[in-house]
Amino acid sequence: MVIIMKKLNLISLAVVVALAGCSDNDKNTPEPAVPVIDPVPVPIESLTVKNTLAVGSEQCINGGIETLTGDDSNQNGELDADEVTTTTVVCNDAETSLNPQQLAPLTTNTWYKEAHTKLASSQDNIANIVKESGKAKNVILFVGDGMGISTVTAARILAGQLQGKMGEEHQLSFETLPFSGFAKTYNVDAQTPDSAGTMTAMASGVKTDVGVIGIDEAVVNGNCLSGKGHELVTSLELAEIAGKSTGLISTARITHATPAATYAKAANRNWEDISDMPESEAANCEDIASQLVNFEKNLEARFAGIDVDGLEVVMGGGRRHFLPKDAAYNSADAVSSVEGDRTDGRDLTAEWQAQYPNGQYVMDQAGFNAIDVTNTKHIFGLFNESHMQYEADRGNDIAGEPSLSEMTAKALDVLDNNEKGFFLTVEAGRIDHAHHAGNAYNALSDTIELSKAVQVALDKTSIEDTLIIVTADHSHVFTIAGYPKRGNPILGKVVAVGETEPTLAADNMPYTTVGYANGGGFRDLGEETDAEVGYDFAPVTGRVDLTDVDTQSPGFHQEALVPLSSETHAGEDVGVYAIGPGAHLVTGTNEQSFIFHVMDYAADLVKQADAKVTK
Ligand SMILES: [Zn+2]
Repeated sequence: MVIIMKKLNLISLAVVVALAGCSDNDKNTPEPAVPVIDPVPVPIESLTVKNTLAVGSEQCINGGIETLTGDDSNQNGELDADEVTTTTVVCNDAETSLNPQQLAPLTTNTWYKEAHTKLASSQDNIANIVKESGKAKNVILFVGDGMGISTVTAARILAGQLQGKMGEEHQLSFETLPFSGFAKTYNVDAQTPDSAGTMTAMASGVKTDVGVIGIDEAVVNGNCLSGKGHELVTSLELAEIAGKSTGLISTARITHATPAATYAKAANRNWEDISDMPESEAANCEDIASQLVNFEKNLEARFAGIDVDGLEVVMGGGRRHFLPKDAAYNSADAVSSVEGDRTDGRDLTAEWQAQYPNGQYVMDQAGFNAIDVTNTKHIFGLFNESHMQYEADRGNDIAGEPSLSEMTAKALDVLDNNEKGFFLTVEAGRIDHAHHAGNAYNALSDTIELSKAVQVALDKTSIEDTLIIVTADHSHVFTIAGYPKRGNPILGKVVAVGETEPTLAADNMPYTTVGYANGGGFRDLGEETDAEVGYDFAPVTGRVDLTDVDTQSPGFHQEALVPLSSETHAGEDVGVYAIGPGAHLVTGTNEQSFIFHVMDYAADLVKQADAKVTK
């Protein structure tokens, strides 16, 4: 701006001089002849000006130098704006190092230090990972049914708070695994999936329709014959053919969708026993419980030349699908007057024992505790008529039953007797059920129990030869909301930062941090540890005055927005966590079917099984 002003002044001066000169000439004519001496020409100087550009300037965000060059045409000794012919700008590099004064407060900061240490261990994990295919002798797949990201976060906080910590900084066992990614859970025909289609994707490497078990998308749901020729091969079956020991654990009925997708083929997930199938379908296809007991026989019939020894470990609930509908077959901890559902008179527990005379069939905690893990080759545990208890409700089981972590430990003790290795699937099946009932307490408690089971597996195996993957089949409409202060009880009411009393919503009532977008909504069942009791009441949606309600009690069911008889699954991605050979492949966002392919790569399942089949 200054330079431009100066230029205008010079122009006006020049005009004045010129006018004056002209009038002079008019007055002084004629003039005597005087010798004219030409003035010696003064050379035009070339000038360079350097300007420092401040940090944050338009030309250079980190500052720099602007160089202007040109000829001093008017010979005033300055480079005026109209004399500039070239402009160059050289910007400074961004700051790349901190000075010691800046670093000092960071190196003593806990967040900074811990993250820095984690970085070093992450580098070690990447350096130590076994990347060659076939290096995993053992594979363990843990599935938290319905364990979406918000469930993992809330369970992490609850687990930390139960240990007396604030909670947010806590980590569940599987959150410490070095590799993780996301799985897209939709089914071929459904935006929000169910467990049948999602577990089929993980178990077989092929996505399929909602409600379908172990058959590709060509099947018509509920039409048994339409699935013929479209049955998929599962990782469990491949491991069995390859000669590895195989195991399956679930806290749900062992015939329920998730466990069933590892061993059964069914055009409808509800065909858990023959009484659940229309006669037309039962005439052509085998029910799921029967397929479990006939696993060895059926597999040998499907693939020529193989001789397998069956599932070494099967433990879960769902006894009703294995027993005849006759009170004479009731177990010691039967809940119903007639425990069995089967209408074909078959006692599948007896059929299993006839196949494996040296195996042990157990149905309660005492039988479980008595298993000799060194000498027992086959275990069949059915600990409940329907699903096993919620972990928080386990003490109420009539005859007693083991926890998920106890079953995992027992299974590993039996499975690791095989030098060819093992393949084990472990499902925490009831995280899903508690969410469906709108009861976060049980969903989070069962997630914490899954975390313990994963820790058992980490302690009992080596990352040198065992691939462990932990994931979920799908999510739930469970949210963590509001602005509660750090360390606020995760099951409590929102108390804002700096406050001690619950924050009030626009309706002047307090609200909880965790809640559901739909479902049965509010129930205040006090110390009730069985989430299913919530189904005894009609949906109560919308707001309820929680001022005098203990929202942290086991029997509290969170408020829900949309009234539904049962809360629903959610459609967003789920986390996948991994350690061991091949774990580095668990990264990025992938279709859920990718998980099968990671397990196959790590343990070479297809190749090893293929070598056993007669061509
Ligand atoms: Zn579900």
